[in-house]
Amino acid sequence: MTVFADLVVFNTLTRRFEPFEPLVGRRVFMFVCGPTVYDYSHLGHARTYVFYDTLARFLRKLGYSLFYLQNITDVDDKIVNRAAEEGRDPVELAREFESYYYEDMRALNITSVNLYARASDYLKEIFEQVETLIKLGKAYVTESGVYFDITTFPDYGKLSGQRPEELRVHRIEPDPTKRNPGDFALWRNRPREEFGWESPWGYGRPGWHIEDTAISIKHFGKQYDIHGGAIELAFPHHEAEIAQAESFTGEKPFVKYWIHTGLLTVEGEKMSKSLGNFVTIREALREYDANTLRIFLLSRHYRSPIDFRWEYLEQARSSYERIINCLENLKELEIGEEGDEEREFLSRVRERRDSFYRRMLDDVNTAEALGELYELVRDVNSFSERMGKISEAGRNEVISTFSELLDLLGLRIEEGPDTSMLHALISLILDVRENLRRRREYDLADEIRGRMRELGIDVQDTPKGTKWRIIG
Ligand SMILES: [Zn+2]
Repeated sequence: MTVFADLVVFNTLTRRFEPFEPLVGRRVFMFVCGPTVYDYSHLGHARTYVFYDTLARFLRKLGYSLFYLQNITDVDDKIVNRAAEEGRDPVELAREFESYYYEDMRALNITSVNLYARASDYLKEIFEQVETLIKLGKAYVTESGVYFDITTFPDYGKLSGQRPEELRVHRIEPDPTKRNPGDFALWRNRPREEFGWESPWGYGRPGWHIEDTAISIKHFGKQYDIHGGAIELAFPHHEAEIAQAESFTGEKPFVKYWIHTGLLTVEGEKMSKSLGNFVTIREALREYDANTLRIFLLSRHYRSPIDFRWEYLEQARSSYERIINCLENLKELEIGEEGDEEREFLSRVRERRDSFYRRMLDDVNTAEALGELYELVRDVNSFSERMGKISEAGRNEVISTFSELLDLLGLRIEEGPDTSMLHALISLILDVRENLRRRREYDLADEIRGRMRELGIDVQDTPKGTKWRIIG
């Protein structure tokens, strides 16, 4: 195993590239802002969650013991409003979209999250934090709720690089009862007919920012290693989290590394319902598989903006097919003795693997890591074509290199259980057809091939046997 250099990440808080060193030993705590479950998740969410899943896989591969925590915002105006529009119970609506969210994540092969924490399960911690902030004079109660007084926290603005004077005039939530227009809500009183809870300050619902600190401090303590989320959450959401947490615990920094993902646009425009360019994860997955979607999303550096176009998915699909074809060709090579050429080839394969890791260690540059993977495909294809044979050990090494790198990017070589059944059925039909051919019943064999083609399965008889691929 190669000894790797350190991971370097860009920290939004310091605006610098920094070597990654966890607060305690090899243990890493990572929190990423989860979805507000009032609608289907869209491609912007896919970008964010595919990236942190990839980061999590990489951290674990590097030997860190990672706890990856995500919140589920199941208490929010958006949920209450949508439920009211549809005449539904807000809790039921939130649970429904929460289950769709998990379905989407599973479909995208996002498997690295240790715990999904619902905001509504942390009312006790929310009350405790709000109560303490009031006692410390950092927050105050008005008839509309409880607000954090940003003038008590001189560091307010340090994450997003804004000066406190600018923030004080920034009107986030106009409310005449607030001391400063920039003060944010920790608790908001609501009419009793709305969904909510009794609190020491009135009936209502918690503010959005406080749920994250309630959940993360409960599981990780006063300080932890990585906080992730899309860059548009840096202000006010993450800024508010820092103010709440550091005021509540008296420790700073609350989070050592703030890692943010860039924006996803659709054909050059910000994705929004009003523009009608909203693409949900399930819509994209109806046309393209998860491997294709992940390749597309990881084909730009995570901090760069990424523009979605359907033709980019088409390109990503052919990239993935090139990888799969390369592996299939490799598996069909004849087995032979290892010669000098193969030894040279295998050392190139090892160099590519190292380059892949170097790209990932350099601020998780998946775009360039994918580039190394495509170079590896080129190396393997040219070796396969030139030599026509490989030693068994050599072939196993190349295959395991591919599985290792593909797995780091969350790409699957084998397809899911449904397609494996499909593959088994296709093999069965082709075995029967092969028997017909042996009996020289070519008409029937050709008819089977024609019918399979109608179904989108291309069957070719080659000197090395029958090959098939899905063209549909
Ligand atoms: Zn959040």
